[in-house]
Amino acid sequence: MRFPIYLDNHATTPVDPRVLETMIPYFTDHFGNAASRNHLFGWQAEEAVEIARAEIAKLIGATAKEIIFTSGATESDNLAIMGVVEMYKEKGSHIITSTIEHKAILDTCKYLEQHGCKVTYVPVDKTGRVSAEDVRAAITDKTILISIMFANNEIGTIQPIAEVGKIAKEKGVVFHTDAVQAIGKVQVDVEGMGIDLLSLSAHKMYGPKGIGALYIRRKAPRVRLAEQIHGGGHERGMRSGTLNVPAIVGFGKAAELARTLMPEESKRLAALRDKMHREITKAVPEVYLNGHPAYRLPNNLNLSFAYVEGESMIMGMKELAVSSGSACTSASLEPSYVLKAIGVGEDLAHTSIRFGLGRFTTEEEVDFAIRKVVETATRLRELSPLWEMAQEGIDLKSIQWSAH
Ligand SMILES: *Cc1c(COP(=O)(O)O)cnc(C)c1O
Repeated sequence: MRFPIYLDNHATTPVDPRVLETMIPYFTDHFGNAASRNHLFGWQAEEAVEIARAEIAKLIGATAKEIIFTSGATESDNLAIMGVVEMYKEKGSHIITSTIEHKAILDTCKYLEQHGCKVTYVPVDKTGRVSAEDVRAAITDKTILISIMFANNEIGTIQPIAEVGKIAKEKGVVFHTDAVQAIGKVQVDVEGMGIDLLSLSAHKMYGPKGIGALYIRRKAPRVRLAEQIHGGGHERGMRSGTLNVPAIVGFGKAAELARTLMPEESKRLAALRDKMHREITKAVPEVYLNGHPAYRLPNNLNLSFAYVEGESMIMGMKELAVSSGSACTSASLEPSYVLKAIGVGEDLAHTSIRFGLGRFTTEEEVDFAIRKVVETATRLRELSPLWEMAQEGIDLKSIQWSAH
């Protein structure tokens, strides 16, 4: 085993060696600009890009022409939202999203609220699911966009995407989903699920960082977006800039691997994840699952260890690379807004750890992680006066704390 053991695959994934191998010639021999029309270098680069585009399309049930390359899902999310707002401004400026979206969605919505848009943040239940009926109820004749993530990056909850898609179609509202965490883990089908716009990122699916895509529906209905980056008219005029050919080639290979490996890989990861959950809760009392017991990504396990500070857990388990809350917000001491939204109290939110399994996680690593987690949580509990009081039946809520 190599240490630390990487269990943070929601934050990023390693590049699969098969992906890297396909990329290398595009840095050296085939370095052409895909927009060069006059020579072999350009043609080879363009051909490689189109093969990758077709692979990515195939993974989500789209056609190649519906895929636009971006620098990552943050840009895809921005382009989807800003592009719709600008293009459909005659119709209205109302957006519907959820309270537990990624910051790439929430911060874009916050920005737009300061610039005249109205945003409805649909709540989630205690498992992190939105109700499709709540989405329906929020729609007005000014609604131009519904953006609901496919699966959450902290708690792994999978949303009722097909139901929301059906409602969006009935009401004639464009439907975007941030599917970064779901791609390669669960079946995603833009046709069957009524998705009009979909964001993906290569580095969350064993491809390189800095490359992503946005699926943009071309038929029934044809969705139009106002470009956000001007210059050159690449990507059907919707995203200018010289294409990152090696990264795109790698992204394509990652998509092919995701499609072929997914059925077996998701089963394997779910079994390991379930083992981890089972063994930890068997050995440690008062451990709570955050997320949905069934509608959940196969590689996600988010647990709260009552009376054990998450940061102390992480410090005590240096052999494990895990995350407390979301990687993006764990620099601050604010509890995760996702956990808050599902009703986890501030105390318990501070005790949560996210385990994210991945393609290269072995059973041996999971077994080690289980032992380490059990040992650390047990040790920290023994040191915790709060835990001791709770064991003695003292109601902690009744205590008057001094020193504020
Ligand atoms: C990682 C992530 C993003 C951002 O993707 P980048 O390619 O890193 O910009 C957006 N949404 C979700 C759900 C993510 O997990």
